[in-house]
Amino acid sequence: MSAAAKFPHRSRATLEDKQLVATDTYLLRYRLPSSERLKFLPGQYVTFILDRGGKSVTRSYSFASDPDSGNSFELVIKKVESGFASNLLCGALVGQEFTVLLPLGRFVVHDPLSRKALFVATGTGIAPFFTMIRALLAEHPEIDITLVVGYRHPADLILNDRWLAFARASPNFHLVNVLSRPDHEWKGESGHVQDVVRKLFQDLSQHDVYICGVPEMVSEVQDLAVSLGTPKERVFVERY
Ligand SMILES: Cc1cc2nc3c(=O)[nH]c(=O)nc-3n(C[C@H](O)[C@H](O)[C@H](O)COP(=O)(O)OP(=O)(O)OC[C@H]3O[C@@H](n4cnc5c(N)ncnc54)[C@H](O)[C@@H]3O)c2cc1C
Repeated sequence: MSAAAKFPHRSRATLEDKQLVATDTYLLRYRLPSSERLKFLPGQYVTFILDRGGKSVTRSYSFASDPDSGNSFELVIKKVESGFASNLLCGALVGQEFTVLLPLGRFVVHDPLSRKALFVATGTGIAPFFTMIRALLAEHPEIDITLVVGYRHPADLILNDRWLAFARASPNFHLVNVLSRPDHEWKGESGHVQDVVRKLFQDLSQHDVYICGVPEMVSEVQDLAVSLGTPKERVFVERY
């Protein structure tokens, strides 16, 4: 699995479909002009170039769909309170066009070298993991993969059916949802992802660790992984 990013270019993306998939969270599908064939590595992202009162602003979103989806791609975007781009993109109508720069990013899957893999995310930080984990499972079905993902409430779980399908198809894939504010019906893990990682793993020396989400969580899990034995160069992070 190459870490080399494909060459980024500017294009136009048309919103083709929009679905509410969790609280304030949308699955958005875009299509590039038919003359283009999108190529990207699992884990990479697209940057939107948006106009804000005459000024150009950029916001990035990880590809949540497979690289071999022709000239279309999916994103999972959560509306941030008072957030400019997330509200603009989630409020857009089908048919609306945007200027984008793609693909970008170096947060990609590395050859596991017979190691196990632990993926840790909070919220929309799982977006790049759809493609990364699928790629890893396809190329290395023998390796053990755990995904620990944190949300607040049960209604915040993002595309959980897709993860359950992964788990059914791949006995080596383990999904651990964690809620920081569970209701009384929740039977899974609760608390913060850091605590659950600490509870599940006493030794991470044989793991590659991929972490994606808000900067504070990323730094804490990064430190934790290293303290549990993961070599620094086998901890890969993306901060949102
Ligand atoms: C490489 C990369 C990939 C990303 N991929 C995704 C993705 O797949 N899906 C996705 O939803 N986001 C993703 N993000 C985050 C995204 O780029 C924006 O930062 C996010 O949508 C907020 O932008 P905004 O313009 O709506 O908010 P802004 O107008 O920039 O911010 C408004 C307010 O909200 C606060 N804020 C900003 N972000 C957050 C947050 N995440 N949680 C709580 N408060 C916040 C700001 O501090 C500010 O006070 C990614 C970021 C990076 C760097």
